[in-house]
Amino acid sequence: MEEQGKRRLRRVVLVPGPFQGHINPMLQLGSILHSNGFSITVVHTQYNSPDPSTHPDFSFLPLPDSSSALTGEFIPFALQLNINSEARFKECLAGVMRQLGPGDGIACIIYDEIMYFSQAAAMDLKLPSIVLRTGCAAISLTRDVLFQLSAEGHIPFPESKSNDPVPELYPLRFKDLPIMEKLENFLQLLSKASNIGTSSAIIYNTIDCLENSSLAKVQQQCQVPTFAIGPMHRFASASYSSLLEEDSSCLAWLDKQSSSSVIYVSLGSSTYMDAKELVEMAWGLANSQQPFLWVVRPGSVFGAEWIEVLPESFKKNIDERGYIVKWAPQKKILSHSAVGGFLSHCGWNSTLESICEGIPMICRPCYGDQGVNTRYISHIWRVGMELEGELERDEIERAIRKLMVDEEGKEMRMRGKNLKERIEVCTKEDGSSYNSLKELIKMIMSC
Ligand code: UDP
Repeated sequence: MEEQGKRRLRRVVLVPGPFQGHINPMLQLGSILHSNGFSITVVHTQYNSPDPSTHPDFSFLPLPDSSSALTGEFIPFALQLNINSEARFKECLAGVMRQLGPGDGIACIIYDEIMYFSQAAAMDLKLPSIVLRTGCAAISLTRDVLFQLSAEGHIPFPESKSNDPVPELYPLRFKDLPIMEKLENFLQLLSKASNIGTSSAIIYNTIDCLENSSLAKVQQQCQVPTFAIGPMHRFASASYSSLLEEDSSCLAWLDKQSSSSVIYVSLGSSTYMDAKELVEMAWGLANSQQPFLWVVRPGSVFGAEWIEVLPESFKKNIDERGYIVKWAPQKKILSHSAVGGFLSHCGWNSTLESICEGIPMICRPCYGDQGVNTRYISHIWRVGMELEGELERDEIERAIRKLMVDEEGKEMRMRGKNLKERIEVCTKEDGSSYNSLKELIKMIMSC
């Protein structure tokens, strides 16, 4: 295809990070680009490989020797993955380029920022690259502050500082900052992931009406176009990329519950708890007297396979009022009229999915960006509240009742409805995300 003397290259290579919360937005982006006429190749690790049958129109290409699983800490894993993958990725890309016929060259590479090896390989092969940041824009802004605090010797900061506000990062407190173990390695990963190098743009799965000022600051810092095209699951509603099998039987159970009565509980794909916390959660849910739908991922409770550590008295007590699954069709659940609240770890995808449906949240952040997301949910958008401290049954019961029954929860629900409507406007024709997506597509076409 010729356009103004230049052949249009219509294939986009995607490089997702090998975790559920990273694979989902990348494949959603692939579906969006595919429906706009691009061919899609997904280069992925063998570990946590996406299932090619879920996207029959895409080509999937596993990186050779990339089956090492995350068994220990995340940071060393991610650093090693990048070291191991650059040469392999370059070979993969060269192979793809050799096989493509005339008119089907690679227009650009879109890579998850934690897969930063992709950028170096793209540069070597003289291919344009674009970064996808799967978290919110506010998270990017915490990085400079972390580098500065570390350079000044303030990390780890003393316990007494932890509730203090971080200067210039309202509404964040020191304890909300996404600091991970082994500081030196963590900062190394952060600096490599933040360095966009020769990449020509940044894509965020966020929305202008949620993060207008953070996006403006990122744009100012980065010197390349920034595209806020979220919530991508709204533009790619059919995209399915669960690594675990979804148990859809809970939808029939939800059909039997009354409107806005159910509290949905899920702590995402990578959080863990001990058996005591699981039992506290169970009694908190039971004692709240609200119907609940609870996702307990197999292997997510230390020392247990699944929920065998829950007492029989609890299992008898919940009767018809509770439903427990191993993995759920979360987006369908959050859009079901029976669901009235979400107790979540506040990963960014879960946060967006909940906000888009106007569902207020009880936030139980565990690590990484979840503290920042929580703070925005509770203090900026005011559609949720944080459950702090030890996981304890009375506190859980109180939080659920506050969210589902009390005046405070009703107000959050009202604000949630408003926010949902504003987000809908952003995704419609001439809305901010819609326009940003159009600009992104134009840019890729001109690559
Ligand atoms: N998810 C799901 N079923 C579940 C729990 C989670 O499909 O039972 C999906 C959820 O919809 C979201 C993703 O898994 O898209 C989790 O991403 P998030 O960023 O919320 O958290 P992470 O798992 O990365 O910590």
